[in-house]
Amino acid sequence: MPQDVSFGPRTPYPLQVTKPAILVVDDDATVLSAIERDLRKQYRSDYRIMKADSGADALEAAKELAARNTTVALFLVDQRMPVMSGTELLREVMKLHPGSRRVLLTAYADTDAAIAGINEVALDHYLMKPWDPPDERLYPVLDDLLNEWRARTIPAFDGIRVLGSQWSSPSYAAKDFLSRNRVPYEWVDLDSDAQARTLAESLTNDLTRLPIILFPDGTHLIAPSNAVLAEKAGLQTHGHLPFYDVIVIGAGPAGLANAVYAASEGLRTILVESQATGGQAGTSSLIENYLGFPSGVTGADLAQRATTQARRFGAELITGQEVMTIRREDPYRVVVLSDGSELTGYCVVITTGMTSRTLECSGIENFFGVGVYYGAAMTEAARYRDKDVLVIGGANSAGQGALFFSRHARKVTMLIRGHSLEATMSQYLIDRIAETPNIEVMTRVEVRGVKGDKYLESVVVKTVDSEEQHTIAASAMFIFIGALPHADRFAKILERDEAGFILTGADLPSEYGRPRGWNLERQPLTFETSIPGVFAAGDVRSGSNHRVAAAVGEGSATIHSVHRYLGTV
Ligand SMILES: Cc1cc2nc3c(=O)[nH]c(=O)nc-3n(C[C@H](O)[C@H](O)[C@H](O)COP(=O)(O)OP(=O)(O)OC[C@H]3O[C@@H](n4cnc5c(N)ncnc54)[C@H](O)[C@@H]3O)c2cc1C
Repeated sequence: MPQDVSFGPRTPYPLQVTKPAILVVDDDATVLSAIERDLRKQYRSDYRIMKADSGADALEAAKELAARNTTVALFLVDQRMPVMSGTELLREVMKLHPGSRRVLLTAYADTDAAIAGINEVALDHYLMKPWDPPDERLYPVLDDLLNEWRARTIPAFDGIRVLGSQWSSPSYAAKDFLSRNRVPYEWVDLDSDAQARTLAESLTNDLTRLPIILFPDGTHLIAPSNAVLAEKAGLQTHGHLPFYDVIVIGAGPAGLANAVYAASEGLRTILVESQATGGQAGTSSLIENYLGFPSGVTGADLAQRATTQARRFGAELITGQEVMTIRREDPYRVVVLSDGSELTGYCVVITTGMTSRTLECSGIENFFGVGVYYGAAMTEAARYRDKDVLVIGGANSAGQGALFFSRHARKVTMLIRGHSLEATMSQYLIDRIAETPNIEVMTRVEVRGVKGDKYLESVVVKTVDSEEQHTIAASAMFIFIGALPHADRFAKILERDEAGFILTGADLPSEYGRPRGWNLERQPLTFETSIPGVFAAGDVRSGSNHRVAAAVGEGSATIHSVHRYLGTV
């Protein structure tokens, strides 16, 4: 089996190697008990001795052992059994346990079948009944076979196994979910592992539904949701308390910072995360602009440290559950989770972040990080000193990016679909771009392709008004085509800006000196949304500046408003 094993410090299913099995099969109860007794006497300290009184039962046991990834060292099988003979049974089980040793128990009359079995099922030995005394006629033969088996066998992985295909995105998503949540697992590629494929076929007749996830207790899940997988993998998926002071939605930098401060200040705090802690930052290979880490810090490390810190202060963390909506039942706020369960508390802090809008263009994924970037990848700017770069998009963020890169690059070309920047960009930025000699704006064009060997070398663009295409040489392409805030779930209940980001505090649209629909004497607190006691911080908040430090700062600062709010309920 492929040995792509992922480990982490939190292991609901720790690595442990169970004893390999010896499975003895005979339909005669007296013979079965006798051989089982003799095997236990000699081998029970190193092997798990199992028995079955028919071929069908033995086959079921073999399947279950394969599903648990328990290795079978030896099958010791009677030849003459009704329905399924010993050799027929061995033919089936060798598909699931090809490395096992196979021994037939035969009477004198079965010798021919045993000899035939040597070739047919790669029989290692046949033992004539009776085998007394075992010290002379049983143990020496089995000792040799088992010693040889041990010398050739790598102990099986005894944790969660993900059986999937590299071409199945749900398989990738399950691996990503487990590894980002630090649950150890073994990846088994069904496209290249025939033995695993046999096992998968014994569990389902629809191999288009992947992955199949096998657990050490012998159970399996097929294409499970994150919530189901999280629960089975031993992650917390429901709150332990009936009531919380603060319910934080989203465990990116903003949510984690909020939970650390809330819990450290004695508030009953729970954090709900649909994927894995760390959010967007958790997927970054190196964050170089976060205060206090002069050599940078990986997103995974930062996320793990913050998660440990939040837990240490007593914050609970639910993983794999998505928040569907928030209900107001004054003075309480009820958070509804994807499995229909609910959390109740006084305050809710929404820190659900955002996703960059992606540019659809064939082959672009091959250049992520080696010429293609989403947003102002400022740490990359120096790499493109005196090179030609492209900025895609015509909004303010693209304008700021273009001005920033113009200080490093030889030439910056902005590609926009519109007729001019006027409709999408602030005038002050348009003026500054016009004053910058190494920025050119190319209008009415869209990106159609990317080219390069190892790194990006050129980009194919098409004019919007015709089919005309041409190629522009460029070492880097910075994409600013907007972001999708994770706030649709709250669209009906909260005020949002035009792009869908959640409005808070003084930014809330006002009517007669108060925010629309606001029925309190006081004005909204900093970071408070249009529902009192519901706050928003980090990338999902309108006006946030989409950086790790900003998210951490907003998440931490929100606690001040939370305390003020709690003083009123
Ligand atoms: C690849 C990459 C590299 C980056 N590098 C840098 C860098 O070097 N420096 C820098 O300053 N910034 C960087 N950023 C930006 C930075 O990561 C973000 O600004 C920051 O993560 C925002 O934090 P957040 O907590 O507001 O939101 P997010 O990090 O987006 O976290 C939001 C979390 O909420 C969860 N969530 C969403 N909806 C729900 C729901 N309904 N229920 C439950 N959970 C939900 C999401 O799964 C996610 O985990 C990078 C971003 C990316 C994508």
